[in-house]
Amino acid sequence: MNNKLYGNLIFELSHPGRRAYSLPKNEFGHHELPSGQRREKDAELPECDEMTVVRHYTNMSGNNFGVDNGFYPLGSCTMKYNPPINEEMAALPAFGALHPLQPESTAQGALEMEYRLQKALCAITGMSDFTLNPCAGAHGELTGLMIIRSYHQSRGDERRIKVIVPDSAHGTNPASAAVCGLEVLEVKSTENGLVDLDDLRSVVEENKDDLAAMMMTNPNTLGLFEKDIPEITQLIHAAGGLMYYDGANLNPMLGIARPADMGFDVMHINLHKTFSTPHGGGGPGSGPVGVRAGLETFLPKPHVVLKDGRYEVENPAATEEYSVGNNHVGAFLGNFLVIVRALTYILSLGKENIKKVGPLSVLNANYIKESLKDDYELPIIGVCKHEFVFNGLKDKSSGVTTMDVAKRLLDYGYHAPTIYFPLLFHEAMMIEPTENESKETIDGFISVMHKIAKEARETPDVVKTAPHTTPITRVDDVLAAKHPILTYRQMVSDNQTSGK
Ligand SMILES: *Cc1c(COP(=O)(O)O)cnc(C)c1O
Repeated sequence: MNNKLYGNLIFELSHPGRRAYSLPKNEFGHHELPSGQRREKDAELPECDEMTVVRHYTNMSGNNFGVDNGFYPLGSCTMKYNPPINEEMAALPAFGALHPLQPESTAQGALEMEYRLQKALCAITGMSDFTLNPCAGAHGELTGLMIIRSYHQSRGDERRIKVIVPDSAHGTNPASAAVCGLEVLEVKSTENGLVDLDDLRSVVEENKDDLAAMMMTNPNTLGLFEKDIPEITQLIHAAGGLMYYDGANLNPMLGIARPADMGFDVMHINLHKTFSTPHGGGGPGSGPVGVRAGLETFLPKPHVVLKDGRYEVENPAATEEYSVGNNHVGAFLGNFLVIVRALTYILSLGKENIKKVGPLSVLNANYIKESLKDDYELPIIGVCKHEFVFNGLKDKSSGVTTMDVAKRLLDYGYHAPTIYFPLLFHEAMMIEPTENESKETIDGFISVMHKIAKEARETPDVVKTAPHTTPITRVDDVLAAKHPILTYRQMVSDNQTSGK
């Protein structure tokens, strides 16, 4: 990589008068814009030759890391392979060039796709109907909680505004509840990492008249299956609350176990995790929300339905009191091309193969956990599901932290795991390999993790000062968060600083 040679910013490569374009011959004569519409000064644009532009951006793209470059065990994020067939389908002109205001009669194929994905998600989860409108997991949580609130209001139960959230939950759970105007009640985890039933019983007892719902992630953020779900759902339902399932990490459950059968009433799924659509860097997501039978009327609209062999879009009607309405104004039927990719993934695996996703992701996670537990502290012993958490190095005497190990992994060409989350352990390192990786790739990662543990014992400074091979080494992330500099300050020829 020639970053040094070709510069870090295109502006730094600029030379007055260099050009990378040529315009066709002017056949229309010379016309001036009215002076009031013209700039007073030329725009400050980089001036470069074509080759420099091509090399600059090609080298920059090589600094990016994705699942197509290497192993990406980012726990909770399910960085699974995104098969190119998904992209091919999303690029079909009939999908990519669709206009959101096209008459339904000319978009039957697209509507059928939405409908079939709704049905496929119902089959996978046991729910009765799905909305594909929410555009991320957190947006799904908010939508789901609005549905729950609407349900209670429809029964004249306005005071039910409290939501129980386990302390191991993803940060979006309490945040979504707060955005929805609900009050969060935290319930503790046991030392085995599961919901503490005794604590739950007392929280429910104290709040049973105001209880709206309990949110649960299963497998939870420690990668553990919450074995007490039948008892928990019974407890919450008896108190008049609904059960919300955070299905962002549905991967290990595909075709194996269904949230509706466990007693959950409302749930969301992250298509951009479990159903293999690319994510990260703020790319488009999709967080469909499903409801059990009896709650369909509360789903947001617009919604695709099948009537007399034709697909129709149901819009919110003024008379409907309890549908949560359009929760994604301007985006019509959700992030459509993400939906195309997810349905492609489901159909290309099929009913039988989709059942292999869960067991393989669980096997891979357990293989890594068991292979590394002599070098890394495993706070919760036993079988995990698709991911697990280490609490830093087992031998902490060298002072090498989880941050150091994560940085050192970059030198060896691996993406770091999720670190310092969940908050239950100080040196958390959350590893999720997904089902796609070969044994050789996983063995390679295991041997590098052993190597880093050995370096921590023998030459700790190498680990503490990592990374050594990346374009930049450690950044001051506190400073970057508190004083972000988001624009480039350019020196212009008259030595005045301009730009923003
Ligand atoms: C990723 C995740 C979310 C949030 O999903 P976004 O699409 O990032 O908003 C919520 N809950 C869990 C358990 C997750 O892993």
